[in-house]
Amino acid sequence: MMTEELLKNRAEFEEKLRKLIGRPVLLIELDLFALPCGCAGITANMRGLEVDDLDVFEPQILPLVKEMAANLGVKPTVTFARLVPGSSIVASLNWRTLCLRCYPEFARGEGKMPRPDLYMLMFERKK
Ligand SMILES: [Zn+2]
Repeated sequence: MMTEELLKNRAEFEEKLRKLIGRPVLLIELDLFALPCGCAGITANMRGLEVDDLDVFEPQILPLVKEMAANLGVKPTVTFARLVPGSSIVASLNWRTLCLRCYPEFARGEGKMPRPDLYMLMFERKK
């Protein structure tokens, strides 16, 4: 049952992040999405998560984000955090299987923060 899987994964991801970071971070909404262009993926809307947390705990967070994608059957091209512009607040974590049109836009960017509102966790570059 899909909704049961979403509920289970929402709760488990939140629990694991809390244990790791040691603060009551919230995963307020876990969504599967599809866009008109052909991109699809997962969005986890967060509260209480800071970009510093990603920086410090990245080696521990990466297995958790990989696990979430595998559990929900998503093969993301890119996994990133979206920040509230001009702040260090993480608004959401995003797993996205990029369409052919959107891929170059992400592939062009370099480094951890190709845009001031994006913090890259993983990118599967095409050969
Ligand atoms: Zn797209």
